[in-house]
Amino acid sequence: MKIPVAAIRRLTLHDGPGTRTTVFVKGCPLHCRWCHNPECLSARPQLLFHDNHCAGCGRCAEACPHGAHISAPHAIDRSRCRLCGKCVDACWRGALEICGRDYTPEALLPILMRDADFYESGGGVTVSGGEPLLYAEAVARLFALLRGHGIRLVTSASGESAWKAAKCFVFGSAADAELTGDFDLSAISGARIKHLDNGNLELSVPGAFVVIVR
Ligand code: SF4
Ligand code: SF4
Repeated sequence: MKIPVAAIRRLTLHDGPGTRTTVFVKGCPLHCRWCHNPECLSARPQLLFHDNHCAGCGRCAEACPHGAHISAPHAIDRSRCRLCGKCVDACWRGALEICGRDYTPEALLPILMRDADFYESGGGVTVSGGEPLLYAEAVARLFALLRGHGIRLVTSASGESAWKAAKCFVFGSAADAELTGDFDLSAISGARIKHLDNGNLELSVPGAFVVIVR
């Protein structure tokens, strides 16, 4: 039971109430034009290149055993990349990063508990993405572990293909989790809305809603 994680951001302020630590998972069934975390679309690990940090020194090209780095202008032939990480180690500007690492819920627990003293004003842990509900069972397990330490929990979800998982997740094993999400209304049928009306649905603004189950 593993969760592919793109990043763990500490002291976030925009992923739920209060001060939080947010886990961004990799993998999403949608490809929305307005996606603000495109590195989370693929569930697989990827080499990220932050060109605004690059000094053009060429050390990454020297370090790569597969000739994946192309100079002038700097580009990466991803068909050659084997994700060995040697260029990441060689880069002194932090311009390269391997995004995507699998964690078990048990491995994430101590990482997230490091910040427990800072979860103020109703803060806690958010699992975002990507689509956390692709990994509903593992996220529910993580939530159960965190809840055992009194941590308040939020997850952000697309509400599309993981709908059955969402039902299981929200109304099942993680039953008093908070679920927030931005939903494309074109992807929501009347039947789905009707179903959720039996639970605890708030339509806040067109195109978005918040489900809170306590
Ligand atoms: S090692 Fe880093 S700074 Fe140098 S060219 Fe490669 S990405 Fe740019
Ligand atoms: S991760 Fe390895 S194979 Fe991929 S570009 Fe860097 S050095 Fe080359």
